[in-house]
Amino acid sequence: MPELPEVETVRAKLAPVLTGRRFESVQIADARLVRPYEPAEVAAELIGERVAAVERRGKYVIVRFESGRVLLIHLRMTGSLRLSDRSLTGNASEDPHRRAVIRLDNGSDVSYRDVRRFGTWLLLEPGELEPYLSTRLGDEPLDALFTAARLGDRLAKRRAPIKAALLDQRTLAGMGNIYVDEALWRARIHPLRPAEAIDRNELRRLHRGIRAALEAGIARQGSTLRDYALPDGSSGAMQKEFKVYGRDGEPCDRCGTPIAKTRVAGRGTWFCPACQPERPGQAAASSARYPSRSRRHSSV
Ligand SMILES: [Zn+2]
Repeated sequence: MPELPEVETVRAKLAPVLTGRRFESVQIADARLVRPYEPAEVAAELIGERVAAVERRGKYVIVRFESGRVLLIHLRMTGSLRLSDRSLTGNASEDPHRRAVIRLDNGSDVSYRDVRRFGTWLLLEPGELEPYLSTRLGDEPLDALFTAARLGDRLAKRRAPIKAALLDQRTLAGMGNIYVDEALWRARIHPLRPAEAIDRNELRRLHRGIRAALEAGIARQGSTLRDYALPDGSSGAMQKEFKVYGRDGEPCDRCGTPIAKTRVAGRGTWFCPACQPERPGQAAASSARYPSRSRRHSSV
């Protein structure tokens, strides 16, 4: 699934193409994309709208129109937006996974394809976006307002494993399975540690690790696994630089220990068993890095 770096890359590619352009025609071929609304009705509403900006919040692409309305796009598992030349898009049957096509007033097309069809388009009226997102999304991890202290507030009193807490979009917006594993490796925190047990030093490392993992992903235009592709058809390169994700058995970049794989919150999870000890106070080799803390509970 595209995560924050992939969606941000899509946004950055789409923004210069869409901004200032008017939707001349819109075809929505899949009712699932806009349900419970009728595809023809949504398409008709979109025609004539002129794009003011293309933004991102969490894993959502936000297309803002001059009218104040918003088209909120979530790519989910396999959605992608592609820019195409009019001459290449004459026959929609050429791509059975194309679900919608927007023709712009300069003659170019933006098509939406989605193999597994979990993606969504939602047209919101002025004023509806903020309430919609505020109940679903926590802080933006790359925003200046997101600090280690804010992260600590979000994790306090949560017994869930830290990995599960970070996958919850209401904790932080935009993290998914890949970048959570990468951030926890950078922070040297075991994915099963209870969120509430993360101490202040670890919080600082986690805050830095989250940002560093996401920024690395953006710098490499995201990671291409299976269906993710950029709007111009090119691929991201982050998958070549994963520290742990998908690397079970390979040596840890930091200590050489083979990367281990487990499951957390139902998701495949990769970590270094040496750098990311489940009980940090007992990690003899790195005791200097992990000041011992009193273990108040003995239930684990
Ligand atoms: Zn290691």
